[in-house]
Amino acid sequence: MDIGVYFSCSALIILSIFALRFYLKPRIKNDETDIYSILLILTILGLLLEILTCIWFKMGVDVNDFIYKFFSKLTVSYYFIWSALFYKYLLIICKSTKKTQKIFNVLIILIFMVLMFLPMNFYQIEGIITPKGIMVNVVYVLCFIFTLLDIYMCIKHHKHLTNSKFTPLYALLVLGSLDFVLGVVSPQLFLIGYIFSLIIIIMFFTIENPDVKMIEQLNIARDQAEKANNAKTEFLSNMSHEIRTPLNAIDGFSQLILEENNIDTIKDEARDIMAASQNLLEIVNGILDISKIEANKLEIVNVEYEPHKVFDELVKLTKARIGDKPLEFKVNIAKDLPEYLNGDYIRLKQIAVNLLTNAVKYTKNGSITLNVDVVKKDNVCRLIISVKDTGIGIKKENLDKIFTKFERLDLEKNITIEGTGLGLAITKKLVELMHGKIVVNSTYGKGSTFTVAIDQKIVKKVKTIKVVEEEKTTKQVNLKGKKVLIVDDNLINLKVAARLLLSYKIETEEVSSGFDCIKKIEEGNKYDLILMDDMMPKMSGVETFKKLQEIDGFDIPVVALTANAIAGMKENYLKQGFNDYISKPIDKKELERVLKTYLKAK
Ligand code: ADP
Repeated sequence: MDIGVYFSCSALIILSIFALRFYLKPRIKNDETDIYSILLILTILGLLLEILTCIWFKMGVDVNDFIYKFFSKLTVSYYFIWSALFYKYLLIICKSTKKTQKIFNVLIILIFMVLMFLPMNFYQIEGIITPKGIMVNVVYVLCFIFTLLDIYMCIKHHKHLTNSKFTPLYALLVLGSLDFVLGVVSPQLFLIGYIFSLIIIIMFFTIENPDVKMIEQLNIARDQAEKANNAKTEFLSNMSHEIRTPLNAIDGFSQLILEENNIDTIKDEARDIMAASQNLLEIVNGILDISKIEANKLEIVNVEYEPHKVFDELVKLTKARIGDKPLEFKVNIAKDLPEYLNGDYIRLKQIAVNLLTNAVKYTKNGSITLNVDVVKKDNVCRLIISVKDTGIGIKKENLDKIFTKFERLDLEKNITIEGTGLGLAITKKLVELMHGKIVVNSTYGKGSTFTVAIDQKIVKKVKTIKVVEEEKTTKQVNLKGKKVLIVDDNLINLKVAARLLLSYKIETEEVSSGFDCIKKIEEGNKYDLILMDDMMPKMSGVETFKKLQEIDGFDIPVVALTANAIAGMKENYLKQGFNDYISKPIDKKELERVLKTYLKAK
């Protein structure tokens, strides 16, 4: 048997394995994988035909037998069809038009049909049967033309030739030329079918056949990103509305105050301005909390506290929120709630406030119930706080979405209810950070119950209690005789800070730039404290602070007083060397803490 058939057999085995791998693995349907699939099947069929005709001949078939001739013609045509389809692969990777590809398909079919009718016969050299005749010559010419076309493609797309998709083409040109030389030296070494198989194997690694699973994951990730993006856009437009509402109140009432002479009316309007400012601050704090959560900067600070006081405050706050809404507020606090606990009571309060605020917001009438139960074990007290309302409820399909940031649901019903869609996302994260759990039960149209379970340590003996301490700080302190330099480029901010300090009888001086601040110190002016804004034009607060440090004998405490309050800012300013940090708008308690720390009586 001629050597070529052994090559064909081994190629058939290897190619079948590749075919199995190709068809068993999920694949992307595109033009490249389609043409590869056709070429793969065609090559396997071609190898089978080569082997079949060879064995058939060895078995002593009459070469003029019609069926043998038909199969031999198919085998010869196979070389033409393969060359043509390989060229089509090149057309595809070179992004030729669909129309060109269609015309090409029709041409191949027509030529194939003509070929099958052309005469073909055989001759034998050294016992090897070789087909000859017009059909064979035409196929040789056609294959040669395709080789020229392949080379033309190489030249035409020379800029992209480093693309791995062209590798099968180079392999074909090199191996084809080698086969041509071998064929001249040793005619029984007819290896073209074997070479086609090698090309198909190379193509397996170069065609665009990305991992389907990866694509699916990418699609999911893209969908999620799109969803998040849409939610953010919605959040921004919602936020713009949320921020403008209190701003409108602040602006409107301020104008009214200017025109008003009655001191009581002015006081009323000032109170409304304060309420609107508080609302605005809550929105901004919500955004800051989310940014801290995303930057993993939100920390739980455990201190000793009196839970009764925390819940009393919550009740007061909720009653104020309910105002004149027709809502009954029921409170049941466990009798055995420990007197003192250790935990982050500020965050605990924030969680409960969020749930109670939502209950008030999403309930038109009926009742809201705050239940606080405790389960004690050793020195741990599990606080089970549940907030029940008879409000609008949440649809089943929305239950798992409510804890997603920026998600606001049932907007057609909630359109008039203010909200940012951040509250529950923050709440859930806080509960998780405190190693607790939050669950929600809701019946659409009837009401919802949010339940939170958080473990807190029971404290037996108490040294310092935060809540009590805070109450003390609210008493006004007299710091007469102290002098503070305020540095801020914004004149209104200067005025606010100076006015706040005046209420402690502190003498102030105000400058509106870092340069003026340095000048004052260099002139030998003495201060007990400097409050320094950071974001100032020309010279920032940080730059001013650095320059101050270079002045001989400078030892005045400098506190960053800035609206730059995103995650990690406090740590950042302390790292720069500032003695302390207060964020704007100024919280009176914070200001007092700083004043007490740095302006001790001499
Ligand atoms: P929002 O600022 O919109 O209130 P939240 O994160 O607090 O943001 O709540 C997310 C969404 O969950 C709300 O928009 C609302 O659709 C729903 N929701 C929250 N609490 C309740 C409740 N008690 N009753 C009904 N729906 C609620």
